[in-house]
Amino acid sequence: MEKIKVELGENSYEIFIGENLFDDAAKFINSPNFSKKVMVVTDENIFNIYGEKLRKIFSIYDTNFEMKILPAGETSKTLEKAEKLYTCAIESRLDRKSVIVAIGGGVVGDLAGFVAATYLRGVNFVQVPTTLLAQVDSSVGGKTAVNHKLGKNLIGAFYQPKAVFIDIATLKTLPPREIRTGLGEVVKYGVISDADFFSYLEKNIEGILSGNVEILKQIIKRSCEIKAEVVSRDEKESGLRRILNFGHTIAHAVEEETHYTKYNHGEAVAIGMIGAALISQKLNYVDAEKVQRLKNLIERFGMYTHCDGCTVEGIYKALFRDKKTVGGKINWVLMKDFGNVEITAEVPENIIKEALKEIICDNKGG
Ligand code: ADP
Ligand code: ZN
Repeated sequence: MEKIKVELGENSYEIFIGENLFDDAAKFINSPNFSKKVMVVTDENIFNIYGEKLRKIFSIYDTNFEMKILPAGETSKTLEKAEKLYTCAIESRLDRKSVIVAIGGGVVGDLAGFVAATYLRGVNFVQVPTTLLAQVDSSVGGKTAVNHKLGKNLIGAFYQPKAVFIDIATLKTLPPREIRTGLGEVVKYGVISDADFFSYLEKNIEGILSGNVEILKQIIKRSCEIKAEVVSRDEKESGLRRILNFGHTIAHAVEEETHYTKYNHGEAVAIGMIGAALISQKLNYVDAEKVQRLKNLIERFGMYTHCDGCTVEGIYKALFRDKKTVGGKINWVLMKDFGNVEITAEVPENIIKEALKEIICDNKGG
């Protein structure tokens, strides 16, 4: 089992990475540091596959656990579902030393984390992420949130878990498209912080796509290390943490313009990274060959390089509605090299629009 420490002073915690870690998670929760009343939150799909196994493992220990099963998908990330979880927590008398455990993808983790952050002003939280996206991104860093009907992730809190258990064996049941969405964020780590890691991804495409456990472990570990390092230095996103937003400014606009139905998050991030790289190239930050390498890797992972159903004007306007656009200023994370990015708010409108034109399908030029 691999271990990564997220250094955040008294909020520090460890991420454990290995195979078949449900038992380790149950053992951790059963420690004398926590009370015996536990709430496990998961979704229907995960419950159908792993429900029995989870029940068995949790019942070995002396904990009194309540299992809450949500409908799968983003529509569960609401205050209404949070309220149902509060009701369950109150009815089952969860106390201040209780643990809320999230077993699932980003949706389950974000919602259960938000409830853990707010119930009794904060109870213990443990994450067992089961999608690649949650394992390399949303379970690390302490962002929890629910959606509002006017926008995604608008209501939330920074709240760190007590531990994260990444069970790579759960990826075996994950649909291939969900693997690809995680790979969008994995590629991002290579660009923002580690050229060797980017080369490693280029050399191991087949192993990754065929689910080679050792290779997956390596890429998850390196991704978590990079995110943990960035988060440790800037927990609440006042500076450095912004580099994690590489590709996301355009991605959020693409997701919004296609009404969150056409592209899942990682796919939109892949398109957004190409857009950001093209802006970087047009400003002479980076040469064309490196932008092409990024495009090739995204393509070989089976992700889209262009978006369909969007217009330059539509995306351009949406960029300014992003919640990270402050006072009309977009903080662009631009690529200088693999492992080297720079943040600037000074990008002329025509450069942005030229780059957007190149990532929209109709302008693909064959
Ligand atoms: P994400 O982690 O990408 O933010 P979700 O939490 O919505 O997204 O999970 C994506 C989908 O994958 C959901 O339908 C969820 O039920 C399903 N899922 C999560 N983990 C697994 C798994 N290990 N095996 C099969 N399906 C899974
Ligand atoms: Zn993301």
